[in-house]
Amino acid sequence: MKCPKCGNDSIEFVSNVQSKNRGALSWIGWLLFAFLTFGIGLLFWFFMALTNKKTITKTRAICKNCGHQWDI
Ligand SMILES: [Zn+2]
Repeated sequence: MKCPKCGNDSIEFVSNVQSKNRGALSWIGWLLFAFLTFGIGLLFWFFMALTNKKTITKTRAICKNCGHQWDI
């Protein structure tokens, strides 16, 4: 792989791991839903808690020559 800016092939690869969480407002909504459905919603809430975290791995290339960065 070569740098699209200067054409140099000395490139450093950096992996960036990001985790995304649901907003606090949706959690309050789910708790309210659980309260209104007398615990039935709590099962849904538990399910949502299990599937809450999403991890995104991004690989980034950095040119050692000119410092140009881009996503792969
Ligand atoms: Zn470059």
